[in-house]
Amino acid sequence: MAPKRDYYEILGVERSAGEDEIKRAYRKLAFKYHPDQNPDDPEAESKFKEAAEAYEVLRDQDKRTRYDRFGHEGMGEFGSQGFSSPEDIFGAFGDIFSEFFGFGGAGRRGPRPHAGADLRYNLTINFREAAKGTEVTLRLPKQEVCPECDGSGASPGTSAETCQQCQGAGQVYQAQGFFRVAITCPVCRGEGRIIRSPCSECRGRGRVVREREIKVRVPAGVDDGSRLRLRGEGEAGGYGGPPGDLYVVISVQPDKIFRRQGQELVVTKEIGMVQATLGDKIEVETLDEPVSMEIPKGTQSGRVFQLAGLGLPQPGGTRRGDLLVEVIVKTPTNLSKKQEDLLREFARLEEEKPLKKVKRFFDKAKKVATGE
Ligand SMILES: [Zn+2]
Ligand SMILES: [Zn+2]
Repeated sequence: MAPKRDYYEILGVERSAGEDEIKRAYRKLAFKYHPDQNPDDPEAESKFKEAAEAYEVLRDQDKRTRYDRFGHEGMGEFGSQGFSSPEDIFGAFGDIFSEFFGFGGAGRRGPRPHAGADLRYNLTINFREAAKGTEVTLRLPKQEVCPECDGSGASPGTSAETCQQCQGAGQVYQAQGFFRVAITCPVCRGEGRIIRSPCSECRGRGRVVREREIKVRVPAGVDDGSRLRLRGEGEAGGYGGPPGDLYVVISVQPDKIFRRQGQELVVTKEIGMVQATLGDKIEVETLDEPVSMEIPKGTQSGRVFQLAGLGLPQPGGTRRGDLLVEVIVKTPTNLSKKQEDLLREFARLEEEKPLKKVKRFFDKAKKVATGE
């Protein structure tokens, strides 16, 4: 028997090579000398085994240290026993092969606990409800752990059996040309277990659909598109996994009176030309009681008045935004003959600019406009 070659030499790496480098080097050789690539080629097969033996030692920190210090002679029972066939190598490195060649599922053993799915609920509320906050009761279908079988899927008094095909792993290896591919076990469909006597309540699924009522507090000041997260109110998890979350996505219907600008509430008020010119008191709607607001003399159309603290609350906060009142001056239409005459008179006086007289005209005009 020829003397054993140096493991580093076999893999073609320096003695200082890191784990990744060693793995890459082995991967290259495993690919090159793979028996499926080199049918009936004893030399390739022995290279394939040799590389596997080198890798088996060098990937293990303890074995590698020992080998570095004492060489092949020092390995004794700690060293590689060698591989008698490629099947041995697949057995020892099965996980690595699926990782190397891009097939996942390494190390999977039976069904794992998994978290339940998150649920989404679209909730439409009106503007005032969003502004003031509200409480709504949602009714939604929800998968829950079956109360009859506690989620096992087996009828009470019986239990699921481990799948004999995959020994509970949920997957089996299948040769596919050059590769050994892990596929979902066809007998148990990946569950790793077989239920002989399924639970009648859930038909073996372990979960049932129930309609649930969930009370949701919508905080004052929520905006259109806000998302409320209700932890643990999503679907039940599988095999002991945690439940998912429920996301309530809020749509806020537009309001006839108010608009929203961040924390600010905006309202548009139309006033008459005379009110704008002479000043007046007007009533402005708020989220609560209407308030009275002073329109100063000579107010221009489009002017915005700010009423502090009458806007929207910050969800979860205490500060409230302002109410912005945009004033639009309406040009009068359908004037009577007398009104038109007065305005012509007004225009004539404007040309002369006798400032004292203007006030008198407005006193008159106001009486006409309000019918006093
Ligand atoms: Zn059940
Ligand atoms: Zn199976």
